[in-house]
Amino acid sequence: MSERDRYIKAWGDRRARLFMLCVAVLGFAFTVRSSHWIAGLCFIGAMVGAYGYYEFRCPRCHQRFLPVLRAQIWFDNGRCQGCGLRVNLLPPDEGAGSA
Ligand SMILES: [Zn+2]
Repeated sequence: MSERDRYIKAWGDRRARLFMLCVAVLGFAFTVRSSHWIAGLCFIGAMVGAYGYYEFRCPRCHQRFLPVLRAQIWFDNGRCQGCGLRVNLLPPDEGAGSA
């Protein structure tokens, strides 16, 4: 697996974690008044999703992507806290220019 493929896989994983979090939060919001069991499961799913999103590691420096400081948890500035790598940024194509 090339470096570029590893980045593509990592950004896809980040999008999947964010999608799971959004689905669980929306599921909770839409079911909280009708079914407490389903809302409870969605709430647990949202907690797991939030933890998974928080635990996402930068593909370049392998540190947590989100800021660790509690005051900044709700503010995802789209950059890795460790190395400053922007979301969805790919390394230069290794094959470009050699062919
Ligand atoms: Zn990084």
